[in-house]
Amino acid sequence: MIEHLEDQLSAYLDGELNADERQRVEDHIEECESCQALLEDLLVMQSDLAQTFHRMQAPAHLEVRVLQSIAEEKIPAAAEKGWAFGFLMMVLTFGVFWFLSGSVLVKLIHGLLKLTAAMVYAASHFILSVPVLTGLTVVLSLVILAASVYSLRRLLQTTAN
Ligand SMILES: [Zn+2]
Repeated sequence: MIEHLEDQLSAYLDGELNADERQRVEDHIEECESCQALLEDLLVMQSDLAQTFHRMQAPAHLEVRVLQSIAEEKIPAAAEKGWAFGFLMMVLTFGVFWFLSGSVLVKLIHGLLKLTAAMVYAASHFILSVPVLTGLTVVLSLVILAASVYSLRRLLQTTAN
């Protein structure tokens, strides 16, 4: 009766046998069709398994990478949360302050420009139509302009303080 080496075939494929054992398996396979068929089956199974494992490995790697990146993002985010919140509040405060002072300044400058334009128009109109009022118009213009500049300077000083 022939002694089959079925239980040594997978060890043979995995390269776990020593030189003598390997030689014995190879000699036996050459003569035994049953073990040869089994070895081929094992080879196919092994390559199927390797392919399946290879196919599974990519998503597994991906998952690990995704989890790693999430962890890497989460940990510093949690650690810097307080700092980030403080920074955000600071930016927000400065932003609101800048916006308010800016809009006030813009309004004031816009108003001054409109006032100046109106003054120039009114002055020229008055000067052309009523020459008598020329002196008064100029003085009035200067007074209003001075008042505007004074209020602007006061506002700038208030903003600075
Ligand atoms: Zn055999």
